[in-house]
Amino acid sequence: MNIILFGPPAAGKGTQAKLLVERHGMVQLSTGDMLRAEIASGSDLGKKVKDILAAGLLVSDEIVIDLITANLPRAEAAGGAIFDGFPRTLAQAEALDKLLGSRGSLIDRVVRLKVDEKALVERIEKRFHDQGRADDNPETYKERLAVYNAQTAPLLPYYAAQGKLREVDGMGPVEDIAARIESALA
Ligand code: AMP
Repeated sequence: MNIILFGPPAAGKGTQAKLLVERHGMVQLSTGDMLRAEIASGSDLGKKVKDILAAGLLVSDEIVIDLITANLPRAEAAGGAIFDGFPRTLAQAEALDKLLGSRGSLIDRVVRLKVDEKALVERIEKRFHDQGRADDNPETYKERLAVYNAQTAPLLPYYAAQGKLREVDGMGPVEDIAARIESALA
């Protein structure tokens, strides 16, 4: 089973992806985590994308598609992928469909976590203090949210048209949200 966790930054995708991994033994594929690992390792790719992440903008489709392509086999071996923070553009969504199709696979469900904007801002302030992620500062977060609304939210009709989209209330205790996600996957 391949699942996309969809929603704006700080909607809880990463937290819920990790819980899905615990319950189902699938592999979380987070392009944000992969890019941060490249930056931390000081690789050429990391150097190339550092300023883009710091500004809250999207890196090129080609970069993230390459990262997903490289990591997909280990997800397949585990029985499926939980895509977290990917795809973020229509070109990425189309490339993902093509990539999975060429491997005899597909996206089964797209779970959209719905969270109100005030809650998002509160979450991001907490995460900024707890984890110190530079792109969680209020100004950059505003940019990331704008990028989400302009470039990523338009993917919702793409998945709705495929009959794969499920909307889940992303507010409240983490375990309650996890239970709603399970229902959406059933
Ligand atoms: P995230 O941890 O998913 O919020 O991603 C952090 C940052 O990594 C984003 O603000 C982008 O700069 C970059 N990034 C992560 N995933 C993608 C993607 N699918 N396409 C383009 N940029 C991405």
